[in-house]
Amino acid sequence: MQKLSVIHPKLDKLKNLVKNVLTSDDSDFYRSFYKENGIKIETFGIDNSEDIETLPFISSSNLSDVPLKKRIYKYGYKFGKLCKINSENQKPYLIERKLCDIKQENYGKICKRPQILLRNNHEALEKSLWFYENDMLPLIGEPNNLQVALYCAKKYNIDALLSEEEFLDNYVKLLIADPGFSHLNLTMLGDFFDSKKIFKNLMSGSVRYVLELPETGAFAESCPEALKRGELIFHSDKNSILEAKGRLIVTKLIEMPTPIIRYQTDIFVEPVEKRCSCEEEMCFSLI
Ligand SMILES: [Zn+2]
Repeated sequence: MQKLSVIHPKLDKLKNLVKNVLTSDDSDFYRSFYKENGIKIETFGIDNSEDIETLPFISSSNLSDVPLKKRIYKYGYKFGKLCKINSENQKPYLIERKLCDIKQENYGKICKRPQILLRNNHEALEKSLWFYENDMLPLIGEPNNLQVALYCAKKYNIDALLSEEEFLDNYVKLLIADPGFSHLNLTMLGDFFDSKKIFKNLMSGSVRYVLELPETGAFAESCPEALKRGELIFHSDKNSILEAKGRLIVTKLIEMPTPIIRYQTDIFVEPVEKRCSCEEEMCFSLI
């Protein structure tokens, strides 16, 4: 198992995040959950990387069991999002995001005319806000009419596409096979990717795979050096601390209205040895 090692400035952000939720006047969600799990709130603080491992995991049931208004740590203008979990016994629940925290996400790359093609409208809207906040004007592709999406992509000469595996064969492959889009920057979003179907190199554009969940936002990105070798290996992104403990455990360092600290996902991973020159030390693959 990889030892959790968090370096500055992530460690400073983590210290602030934990301190803020433990002393918040707005919500008691994490404080009461930690108390129930035997954490001594009055004396707890993060001094080094390993301290976070003494905090219990939260799961999607912990979030769905508590109404949104009791989980909110920040007030003001926000964007509400419904999270549906792919489990029969799990109720959907709401989270909230602010434009300033969406802006910090790792959803796309700087470009002139991006297109977003995602099945879930809440997700497509949130990703468009990321582009707006970063001064780019996005097009939202119509997932139920790919002919129209393709027409718009050509008419407005898109230079980036943000999509998901559902549209791989019936849209993404068709688009990048067109010589007019040989320069396309492709970002594939999702909570799982089939490593047999990955693109190694596009013609002259770039490709990256970003792991995300509706309730957390993005947290990991494919290693570009591994991708060139045909391997799908991930690093945590600059906004996240990840632990590969069979399931992937996510802590988001962006202070969201509904913060995410040690969230246990249903994404199964295994740590892999680092064989690249990327800054991030943590490497894992999906299983
Ligand atoms: Zn790397």
